[in-house]
Amino acid sequence: MKPASFRYHAPKTTDEAVAMLAQVVPEDGRVLAGGQSLVPTMAFRMARPRHLVDINGVAELARLAVENGQLIIGACTRHAAFHRPVVDGPLGQLLSAVVRHIAHYPIRTRGTFCGSLAHADPASEWCLVAATLGADIIARSRRGSRTIATENFFDGIMATTLAEDELLVEARLPLLAPDTRFGFYEFSRRAGDYALAMALATYRLAGGVIAEPRLGVGGAEGAPRRIAEAEAALAGRPPTLDAFRAAADAAAAAIDPMEDTQATADFRRDLVRTMTRRALERAAA
Ligand SMILES: Cc1cc2nc3c(=O)[nH]c(=O)nc-3n(C[C@H](O)[C@H](O)[C@H](O)COP(=O)(O)OP(=O)(O)OC[C@H]3O[C@@H](n4cnc5c(N)ncnc54)[C@H](O)[C@@H]3O)c2cc1C
Repeated sequence: MKPASFRYHAPKTTDEAVAMLAQVVPEDGRVLAGGQSLVPTMAFRMARPRHLVDINGVAELARLAVENGQLIIGACTRHAAFHRPVVDGPLGQLLSAVVRHIAHYPIRTRGTFCGSLAHADPASEWCLVAATLGADIIARSRRGSRTIATENFFDGIMATTLAEDELLVEARLPLLAPDTRFGFYEFSRRAGDYALAMALATYRLAGGVIAEPRLGVGGAEGAPRRIAEAEAALAGRPPTLDAFRAAADAAAAAIDPMEDTQATADFRRDLVRTMTRRALERAAA
């Protein structure tokens, strides 16, 4: 099928994009970033926006920089930008380890980090990274700019607290201390498919025990989130299989798993247990 007809707008600056979006939102206008989620849904006519505001010509949105201890990821930064570390240290390595799990290579050359956040698929790897590390999300509209913490951004399955006339201009990830360990693990039935469950773990060691643990789970609930119960099971313990098993059991017990045609709730809970343990083992390796 082909998309329903729409009007195409190609702003050259962020101000123009924000002004155009405000104008077309009442007529179901949408932002077009990489198009890797929006265009297929248009082709199936599950979405019929009457206007598209294409941000790909806005040079200032392609920014990828380090400022004030944060990695700034502009709205036009493609997934593929992370194939090689974009910053020295564990954060660059973590992003490179995660990106290869997102879809297939051609999709990664078009799809964007910020488009993934705006689209908010529960099984998006970048959404899990943002939720686990605590990203700041910067939204612009004609009313001005605001910063949204990830815990206030995801709002259930494919829903966010972005207003319809807000452009997500950039995401900011905190740089990780050089001694931060990380591990990511996901399960999908075929390479390139969305995962049925995934886990991301980071921690440091202080005097031989785990400090500052962060444990995020994605793909299992309506939105990815940190699991406080699993983090509590890790903090202050040596990084042993016993501690990882305790955290994995805590994560499995804490979640309220989705059920769909791909997996029952029980299977997803089981997957979360295994993904959590394996992510922690990878972090320790
Ligand atoms: C076969 C296939 C497999 C895939 N597998 C995976 C996978 O395993 N993991 C994964 O995470 N993703 C996967 N994807 C999705 C892919 O990563 C998309 O690139 C991503 O979800 C959306 O990014 P995009 O830039 O393409 O956004 P678009 O498709 O352009 O937009 C998606 C939505 O977000 C809105 N939007 C986009 N950018 C902004 C912005 N800056 N401000 C406000 N709103 C905005 C759009 O209006 C639209 O509603 C897959 C896609 C396909 C086709």
